[in-house]
Amino acid sequence: MIGGGISGLSAAYYLNRSGVDVTLVESSPRLGGVITTETVEGCVIEGGPDSFLAAKPAAMELIAELGLGGEVIGSNDSGRVTYIRRDGRLVPLPDGLMMMVPTRVLPMAASSLLGWGTKLRMGLEWFRKPVPAPADRSVAALVREHYGQEAVDYLAEPLLSGVYGGDPEQLSAASVLPRFVEFERKYGSLTRGTMVEMAQAAGRPRGASPAKKPPLFRTLQRGLGSLTAALEAALDRTRVIHGAADAVEEGRVRVNGAWLPARHVVVACPAHAAARLLPIPELAAIAYSSSMTVALGYRKSKLASLPPGFGFLIPARERRRMVACTFVGNKFAHRCPPDMGLLRCFLGGAADHAVLDLDDEAVSALVRDELRSILGLEAGPDFVRISRWPRAMAQYTVGHSSRLAAIQKAAARMPWLSLSGNAYNGIGIPDCIAMSKAAAHRLASGEPLAEPARA
Ligand SMILES: Cc1cc2nc3c(=O)[nH]c(=O)nc-3n(C[C@H](O)[C@H](O)[C@H](O)COP(=O)(O)OP(=O)(O)OC[C@H]3O[C@@H](n4cnc5c(N)ncnc54)[C@H](O)[C@@H]3O)c2cc1C
Repeated sequence: MIGGGISGLSAAYYLNRSGVDVTLVESSPRLGGVITTETVEGCVIEGGPDSFLAAKPAAMELIAELGLGGEVIGSNDSGRVTYIRRDGRLVPLPDGLMMMVPTRVLPMAASSLLGWGTKLRMGLEWFRKPVPAPADRSVAALVREHYGQEAVDYLAEPLLSGVYGGDPEQLSAASVLPRFVEFERKYGSLTRGTMVEMAQAAGRPRGASPAKKPPLFRTLQRGLGSLTAALEAALDRTRVIHGAADAVEEGRVRVNGAWLPARHVVVACPAHAAARLLPIPELAAIAYSSSMTVALGYRKSKLASLPPGFGFLIPARERRRMVACTFVGNKFAHRCPPDMGLLRCFLGGAADHAVLDLDDEAVSALVRDELRSILGLEAGPDFVRISRWPRAMAQYTVGHSSRLAAIQKAAARMPWLSLSGNAYNGIGIPDCIAMSKAAAHRLASGEPLAEPARA
C-alpha cells in the first residue's frame, strides 16, 4: 500500500478485515493525508476536510464499523444560509438552488444575486428540448449555455472554487456534473430534470408521513481526525513504514532505496506522485490544485458583526485572495465552546498556488484585512492555525473520462496493481473510501485488480 491518507488507510483496513496482511508506506511522519484535526482552546479545528456528503454511504458505513456511529453529527441545516459576495455585499444564495440550478421561482425572483436578464433566462430554460450528449465540455460552457455568463460568475465559479478549488472553465461537465449532463440529454432542461428527480425522491406511499430530511453534511463530533485515528488503531494486520516509495515493479516496491517484496501493490497516493512510480503517462496529466485553510479563533463577543449562516463564497470577479469562509460554530454543533467562535477561511485554488508560498504572518495579515473589509471584523483573533495543501485536490478537467480510460487500459497490463485515491472517480471522502473498499474486495477475492475501482 502506497499512501496513508483516507484512501490508503481504508484500503488497508478492508484488506485486514479480509485476512490480508498489508505493508503501508507513507512518506510523511503521520497518517491521515489531508485529514488532520487539532483542538485549540476547546475549538475543533479541521486543517483539511471538515465533513462529508451524507448522501454517499461509504463513509457512514465505515464509521459505523469502527464503532464511531455515536459520534456522528449533522450540519445544522435549519440555519443554512450561504452568502455570495456581489458588488461588495454579502447576498444570500436564494432558497431552492441545487448547485447552480434554480428550482423555486419566488426566492430566485426576489434575490439580488442575479440580474433580471439572467432570471428570465433561467425561467425560459425550462422549455429546452432534449439534446444528444455532446462531447465533453467545461462546466462553465454547460452552465453558460443554460443560464448565461452571470450564472457562471456568481453561482458555478464560487460554488466549484469552494468545493474543488477549481476553475469551471477547465473542469469537465461530464465528470464533475454528470447528473446535469444526463438531465440535458433526457429532459433538455436542467431545471426540469432536477425537479423531476426531486419529486421522485420525495415520492412516498399514500398516507405515509413525510420523512425527516437528513442533514446535507455529516462529520464526527471530535473531528475527522478521529476517523483516521480509529482506522489506524484497527489495522491489526498492517505494518506501517514511514518513507517515500520511489519505485514500483512487479513483486516489489522501493522505499528510501531499499526494495520490499510485494505480491500486490495498491497505489493510493496522488496521481502526480503515482506518475513517478508507474509507466502510465496519463497519471501525470491529471491536474491538481493547491489550497490553504486558515482557522481563526475569537472570543464570541468579538464576532457580533457576523451574519447568521454557514459562511460566504467569493466569486473570482470579486476575489482578492480569499475564496471562501465558513462560520464553523454555525455549521456544526460541538465545534466551539459557548464563549468562542471559529472562522475557517480557504485560499489558493487552481488560480492561486502562489499564496502557499507566503509566510504565516503575511497570510494572517491578508486574511484579517479581507475579513475586515467583508465582515467589518476589526478585532484580532485569539489564535490562528494555517494548513497548506500543495497539489492535494485532483481536478477533473475536460477529457477526464478519456484520461481515466487510458489509465485503466495501461493498468490492466499490470494485474498486480490497484489504484485508488481522489484522482479517479470522485474527490470526496466517501468516494475515496468506496474506491478503496472495492479495490480491497477485488484484491481479497482474487479478481483482476488493475483498473481504478469504480465507486
Ligand atoms: C483543504 C481540503 C478540504 C477538503 N474538504 C473536503 C470536505 O469537506 N469533504 C470531503 O468529502 N472532501 C474534502 N476534501 C477532499 C478529500 O479530503 C480528499 O480528496 C481525500 O481526503 C484524499 O484522500 P487520499 O488518501 O486519496 O489522498 P491524501 O489525503 O492526499 O493522501 C495521500 C497520501 O500519500 C502520501 N504519499 C504521496 N506520495 C507518496 C510516496 N511516494 N510514498 C508514500 N506515500 C506517499 C502522502 O504523504 C499522503 O499522506 C478536501 C480536500 C482538501 C485538500
